[in-house]
Amino acid sequence: MKTISNKDMLSLLDKLKAKSKREANIFFSLCEKDSEIISTKKFKDVLLNSGLRAKDKRLYNLFQNLDAHGDRIVFEDFIDIIRSSELIVEKALRGELSIPDFSYFAKNLDNMFDEVKKIKSGELASYIPPLANVDPDQFGVAIVTTDGQIYQRGDSEVDFSIQSMCKPFNYCFAMEKLGLEKVHQHVGQEPSGRQFDDLTLLARSAVGQLNRIPFNPMVNAGAIMTAGLIGPEDSHSQRLRYIRQQFGRLIGWSPKGEFNTELPRFNKDMARQENFTGYNNIAMGYLLMATGNLPHTKTKLHNDIHPDQDEFDFYSEPAVTEALKLYFSICSLEMTSVNFATAAATLANSGVCPISQDRVLSQKTVRNCLPVLQTSGMYNASGTFFQQVGLPAKSGVGGGVILIVPRLMGICIFSPRLDEQGNSVRGIEMAKKITSKYLVHTFDGTMTDTDRLDPKIPISKWRANSCGEAIWAASNGNIRTLERLVSEQRDLQIGDYDMRTPLHLASAEGQLEAVKFLLKQGVKPIPDRWGGYGYFDAKNNNHKDIVKEYEKLDINYTQASHLVEDPNGKTDKMAIYDDELAVIELLFAAFENNVEGIRTLIAKGVPVHAGDYDSRTALHLAAAEGCMEVVEYLVSHGHPLFVRDRWGATPLDEAKREKRKSVYNFLKDFKLKT
Ligand code: GLU
Repeated sequence: MKTISNKDMLSLLDKLKAKSKREANIFFSLCEKDSEIISTKKFKDVLLNSGLRAKDKRLYNLFQNLDAHGDRIVFEDFIDIIRSSELIVEKALRGELSIPDFSYFAKNLDNMFDEVKKIKSGELASYIPPLANVDPDQFGVAIVTTDGQIYQRGDSEVDFSIQSMCKPFNYCFAMEKLGLEKVHQHVGQEPSGRQFDDLTLLARSAVGQLNRIPFNPMVNAGAIMTAGLIGPEDSHSQRLRYIRQQFGRLIGWSPKGEFNTELPRFNKDMARQENFTGYNNIAMGYLLMATGNLPHTKTKLHNDIHPDQDEFDFYSEPAVTEALKLYFSICSLEMTSVNFATAAATLANSGVCPISQDRVLSQKTVRNCLPVLQTSGMYNASGTFFQQVGLPAKSGVGGGVILIVPRLMGICIFSPRLDEQGNSVRGIEMAKKITSKYLVHTFDGTMTDTDRLDPKIPISKWRANSCGEAIWAASNGNIRTLERLVSEQRDLQIGDYDMRTPLHLASAEGQLEAVKFLLKQGVKPIPDRWGGYGYFDAKNNNHKDIVKEYEKLDINYTQASHLVEDPNGKTDKMAIYDDELAVIELLFAAFENNVEGIRTLIAKGVPVHAGDYDSRTALHLAAAEGCMEVVEYLVSHGHPLFVRDRWGATPLDEAKREKRKSVYNFLKDFKLKT
């Protein structure tokens, strides 16, 4: 392999850009150490670590081509590969998928899973043997994003009974066939405030006439009604086949048999048991018939009974039995958590399955379904659940819960022990944990609670957002921005990776008004990484007015202790980059040893050696924190060695001061070589 020097790496980038700008940064970000090639394996790994799967329709050809390609890719081939593959590949490589920091997200989910797994409370549904006999300890979690990234853990590939989780989908299928208005002539959209199997109906007066319909499609009466609305003129097997195929499409099944996805399994025994014990549901069926709202044919069938027998031909209404038979059958479908999460993701993705790109439901149908889930999806705990978790969700007595985070992801949690309301105990706990870590509650809006994360934002960017804007504003004396940040309830005390705060930068840059503003807001001076207060930033830069402001406070200010071994030695230039927050993001990624975070920023065109307001660069941070992997990545991608921060320190000085031995030795060797 031809190796090139660290200095030549940056000119390599220019050379690539001259050939094809669009792919240059991405290719460069993936380049093997000091070379002009990328490894096929590494390329695949980056795609897979982003949460995508090789069996994804959009990646299928790409992976086949890569397998045939051999283990090295040069730029010209890369251009072909990227151009012929879908946009999704570029998004993955640039860290722009629905959940950009997928491995970090997965790690957090793993921790939650381990915690929730300890919970053993709750009881299995016991009304029929097939539910009473499942292994109570099963626990599976799956998440599918609208970009098709997949997280799964535990028993996520175990089939389990859909039960009431079929209800939102039946509602959607009925709306697809009849439209919202027609469906709502038969079923309401009001929370019932009653048990899910209550026989009470909603009284609605229509044109002077009292009409009685089920409260909503999530209670049994409503679900029997929606089942009754789907293809009433067809035979049972046609109707069930249609519904299974629709479910299939929601989870990425295609009639051509691509994507290894099967239709949901039908558990005949379960359906039979539902029928044997489902007196309440059967009563409901007749009640719906009595209201005249269950679709039926007018002609009544006659059975032949011998005229001599003392009997009459007792009539049972086929519309009722057919609706019930279909309802029981749909409740007895089985899928895995990954399948359910995919179906939920299809709802999150406005009706398009993220795995197959098949539009299964119209945007309108999904838009009309989710609010009903939000208000009535979790039995009698729907209100509490909405307040605490704040997501449209549906549970079933089979132990499953699906949650929909619109435009982001579908979640399925499966664990069969239920609480008193009939919701999976672990399902509820896991859902609560997810919303207490991530800002996905419908009403989180633009919460500025920095303890919780927005999964759509890479973690380094999240950290950059929490302090970067205020620091830049303070260093430029931009009071308007500071005022806005105050009204957004942002914490102006938060420091960056070096614990440099808005107050430090305002002081260093002589921004008297900003210093006054910050102090007036109650911001407390704190020391930075080197033990220095803003007081000394002002003093050393001769900003006397600011020094006076500090002297009004009763604080014992300490000086920073920086280490600069060779102040007159060689000096390299850092890069100036316009997107200031991206620079802070880069430095946070270096600080956290997040090589993938750095790589995606390079792929987006951020210069590897971009510097911040203190002329700190990624290499300074990686050296100070002893992040060897990042140091190696940066250096092999052309980060110059002798960049100097505000105080003249090079990355080597930083490694020495923080006693990062291996980084120090590595940089020292490198220095000798160059
Ligand atoms: N098949 C069940 C019933 O109708 C559904 C129970 C449920 O999951 O809520 O009673």
